[in-house]
Parts: sequence; structure tokens; C-alpha cells
Amino acid sequence: SLDLCAPLAVLGADVQVPLVSGEKVGYAALDYAASSPALQRVWDEVAAYAPYYGSVHRGAGYLSQLSTDLFEQSRRTVADFLDLREGDQVVFTRATTDSLNLLAGALPAGTRVFAFETEHHASLLPWRQAGLPVSYLPSPRSPEEAVAALAEALAAQPSQEEGAGGHRLFCVTGASNVTGELWPVAELTRVAHQHGVRVVLDAAQLAPHHRVSVRELDVDWVAFSGHKLYAPFGAGVLAGRGDWLDAAEPYLAGGGASRTVAREVDGSVAVEWHQGPARHEAGSPNVIGAYAIAAACRALTEAGFEALQAREQYLIGRLTAGLAEIPEVRVLSLFGPQAARVGVLSFVVQGWNSSHFSAALSAEYGIGVRDGLFCAHPLVRTLVGGEEVTPSQCGAPEPSLPGERSLNAIRVSFGAGTPEEHIDRFLAAVRELVSDGARWNYRNEGGRCVA
Ligand code: PMP
Repeated sequence: SLDLCAPLAVLGADVQVPLVSGEKVGYAALDYAASSPALQRVWDEVAAYAPYYGSVHRGAGYLSQLSTDLFEQSRRTVADFLDLREGDQVVFTRATTDSLNLLAGALPAGTRVFAFETEHHASLLPWRQAGLPVSYLPSPRSPEEAVAALAEALAAQPSQEEGAGGHRLFCVTGASNVTGELWPVAELTRVAHQHGVRVVLDAAQLAPHHRVSVRELDVDWVAFSGHKLYAPFGAGVLAGRGDWLDAAEPYLAGGGASRTVAREVDGSVAVEWHQGPARHEAGSPNVIGAYAIAAACRALTEAGFEALQAREQYLIGRLTAGLAEIPEVRVLSLFGPQAARVGVLSFVVQGWNSSHFSAALSAEYGIGVRDGLFCAHPLVRTLVGGEEVTPSQCGAPEPSLPGERSLNAIRVSFGAGTPEEHIDRFLAAVRELVSDGARWNYRNEGGRCVA
């Protein structure tokens, strides 16, 4: 029941927004997959700490000491939340994208990376950008097919063929930001490890909905974003094995990452970098962001993922059953209608441009969803366009102007604090727009659809 999740109340529940009619309605935030609202509790804990924050690792004063303690405590809270192993590190970053770019830069030279083309661009592109060889695997159509395809790809490209060291990495997203579908992370990891391949889990969409145990999943690293985990202050996490991180060049060069810097007699500068998380956290860290993530981890752990999931699965059932009754709606799915998912679902509506449909949901009903290709262009093209797209097309601009061919979709996503009323209002709005949508006119203004 909703009561079970009362400790996970979110901010913004009473925000009123204007409709085109001039009326005001309560905002239905159904775009958690982009950024979730903050938990009230996270906000309160940050507010209680706010008067006391100070510089971390670089101040003699009481408040600097306090902030340093809270920052390091936050690291331990995240380590507990992720059920890390002895020796694993927690590096605070800006978000998942930052975490995966950090890891890409820290991989031993020549590491070959494997990723399904269905990944979010944050999991798809950093390896390529770091100049590493990448093998993109075609979209699998079931979790079993994904496991088999990975096994085949890894067997076909044994590490001896690779460059220096023969290292390999497999990157996988735990829950799709497009379909919400769960990926068989433990099975994929087992296969990867059988081939001596390390694994990084993109948990940006998984961690807000499911307990992520690094120990049980056996992944080598995990990345997630605070702003999708009910902690809105611009911080994220990369956690996992320390060996490659400690051997790598620092992500950023600067204070905090350097242990000693000395002028040599020949005029050059010699630097000894820190080991451990500080190596990749140069500059003044985002102590509020880290503290907010820790507060969210505590709140989620105390409320329990079981309660959150029970509630969410009920809403997913209501949503999918409602959409199934509207023949014009096609729900996007890679793994089929029985696939397990988190509270993320994308769809297209026959006869509608997805941008217009989303604009109508906002302007007519006060419902906030997202339209587009969701930073997963190859996947959305495959699901919407029915065509296979090669990864080289990642990042290509997509026409979404009225009249142009549109391959984009509409995404609805939710989690803690979402009332049943938001799902019901959304379903009623979809039904009404589908049956009577022609009366709304939308035009393109600077790339945005407006009523
Ligand atoms: N991976 C996935 C699966 C995501 O959904 C997102 C955000 N949409 C990211 C990575 C990137 O997260 P961020 O924008 O917080 O860096």
C-alpha cells in the first residue's frame, strides 16, 4: 500500500501547473527516469547539514573537519548500500556519464570493450571516445539471447588477440532507460568472468528501483547518478575494484589527487598521485551532493526495496493493462510483453508525432513525460523504426519537426511517491487524446512543441 512507502515521500507533490485552458492542476511528474524528485527526507537532512558545510580535506576549522567526516561517512554509506567487497572503492563523480568516462580513461591501454548497441549513450560511447577498441553487439530479443550472444562474442574474440595486456571489459545496463526492462546482469557477469572479462554495471535506472548488491551480482564496477536516486545535488558514484583505478592516471589533474608535487633540479615538476578514491577526485568535492546520495541510500534502505517494488509493480500493472486497451498505442519492448521491468515504459501512438503527444500531455493535462530518443538512438530506432542501425549512427540528429518523419517515442517513468492518480490521469489523457486529439494544434517554436 501507499502507506508502506510513506518514508519515501517526495518533494513537489503539491506543485500546481497551468494548463492551456488557464486552469491549474497538480503536476504529475512522470519523468523519474530523467531526474527523480528529491525525497523529502533527503531534502530535510541536507537542510539540517547546510549551515555547517565547509571545505573537505583542506581546512583546519571545525566545520571543515565535520564536512570531511561527513564526506567520508557518505562514502561508507554508499559502500554499504551497494554491498561492496573488501578493497572496493567508492569514487564520487558528477553522475553516471562522468563515472563511466572516468572508468574508460582508467582502463589499461588497449582494453577491448563489449557492449550491446541497446545501451544508453553513456554506456555506449565513453570507451570509443577513450580510443579503445569496442565490439558492439546487436540487439538481443530476450535475456537468454543476450547471455548467449555475449558468450559467443567473447569466445570469438579471445583476449590473446587483443593489444597490450589482453584486457577486456563488458558494460551492461541493469534496467533500460527506454523500455524499463531488466537485464540478466548476474548471468551476463558469470559468462564474462568465465572468459576473464571484467564487468561494469550501469545502474542509473536500476539502483532507484532495486537493491544492487555488487557482491551478489559479482560485477567489477557499478555506476549510478544521485539525481535519479532521489538526491538532486549533482553527484554520482563509480564503485568497485581499486586495482585498475589505482594504476591509472588521475581522471583530473589537480589538488586533492596529488600527494606530493616537487620541483626537480632540471626545472620539471614531479608528482606523486594518491592511491584510493582521492586519486580521481581532484578539486573541491561536492560534499552536499555526496551527503544527499548517502541520505537517499539510508532512506531507501530503511524503507526497504520490497515495499517500493510492491507499490511500483502494482502501478506498472495498472499502466500496462490500461495501455493494452488502447489499440493505437504500441509499447516498446525488446524482451516481449512478459519481461520484468522497473517503472519506465516507452510507447508510440499511431497517427501522432511523439513530441506533439508529449506536449499535449503537458499543456492539456499537467503531465510531465519525456519524448525523444532518450540518449539511446540505436535502441529507439530499432524499436520504433523496426530497422537495424549500426552504432556509427549514434548521435545523429533526429527530425522531430511537424510533418517530418519521426522516429521518437514517449516515455513515462515513476517511482517512490507516485500516486495512483497520476497513472490514472495519464491513462485517461492518452485515451482522450487518441480519440479526440485532432482538436489540439501544436506548432514548433525553436525546436519545442508548444500549444
Ligand atoms: N545510463 C542510463 C541507463 C541512463 O538512463 C542515464 C540517464 N538518462 C545515464 C546513464 C546517464 O546519467 P547522467 O545523465 O546522470 O549522467
